[in-house]
Amino acid sequence: MTGIIIKALSGFYYIDDGSAVYECRARGNFRKSGISPLVGDKAEFELSGGSGVVTAVLPRKNFLSRPPVANIDRLFIVSSFENPAPNEYIIDRLTAIAVYHGIEPIIVFNKCDAGDFSRWESIYRAAGFRVFTVSAETGDGIDALKSEFSGGISVLTGNSGVGKSSILNRIFGNTALKTGEVSEKLGRGRHTTRHTELLRLPCGGYIADTPGFSSLETGGDYEFKEKLISCFPDLYEYSGGCRFTSCTHTCEKGCGVIAAAENGEIQKSRLESYKALFEELKDIKPWQAKR
Ligand code: GDP
Ligand code: ZN
Repeated sequence: MTGIIIKALSGFYYIDDGSAVYECRARGNFRKSGISPLVGDKAEFELSGGSGVVTAVLPRKNFLSRPPVANIDRLFIVSSFENPAPNEYIIDRLTAIAVYHGIEPIIVFNKCDAGDFSRWESIYRAAGFRVFTVSAETGDGIDALKSEFSGGISVLTGNSGVGKSSILNRIFGNTALKTGEVSEKLGRGRHTTRHTELLRLPCGGYIADTPGFSSLETGGDYEFKEKLISCFPDLYEYSGGCRFTSCTHTCEKGCGVIAAAENGEIQKSRLESYKALFEELKDIKPWQAKR
């Protein structure tokens, strides 16, 4: 049988095959071979005498270590109008990490009842991202956002207080996923759980319930540093025009990316974030490769 690991707890893996959830143990030789199943992994398992055994973990397309989730399809980056206001550097850093891992970043501005996000909407639309402006309070824009959750594995990130729980409750709260589990788990309960878990949504996909998670680590990853410009696809497009192949796009004369920012072809804040992240990563050494 095949399914998705939705929870890993005290040596047990809970595998959802689409119709039921099975409690499984890992096969004895699993640990020796260095395979450590993660939530989000597709796994093969067998049932014998009422108990399940994980027999294989299928190849992952990506994984994050914090939160520990594999095969993530989308990262919803949630900001709100105030307390705290959108922070371009934080958003851009998250988009870059997502792009690096092959995860689609989706920008969400919540609390549109309380303010005008048009300045930020235009920055992120111009940068090529999909942007959703919503109000969990009034329900504005929620339907369009809801359809983004169907299929695959979604992760939400954003500072505490931006309204992540409110959005999920507004979307899924009263559709009674497994008898109200969503509203309970994604509501107040989510702050008390310590482990990461995937919740199956009524519309098909899964959402990672990631306690206390509001930022992604760059984790001293040398490869990320080396590929940084390509993790800003809107900037990368202009790097072919740089005079020097070694151009870091931070200060060089003849830099196509800097020229594009000066001409207004790319957003200045995106280049500023790139430069700040470049600065943050610049001392990572080749032996600090993460994988
Ligand atoms: P989380 O920490 O990201 O999960 O944020 P919460 O969902 O707990 O929301 C934090 C606060 O913002 C709560 O007091 C919510 O009532 C409020 N809030 C959430 N969404 C909205 C919204 O769309 N508009 C307004 N005005 N307040 C909101
Ligand atoms: Zn350049």
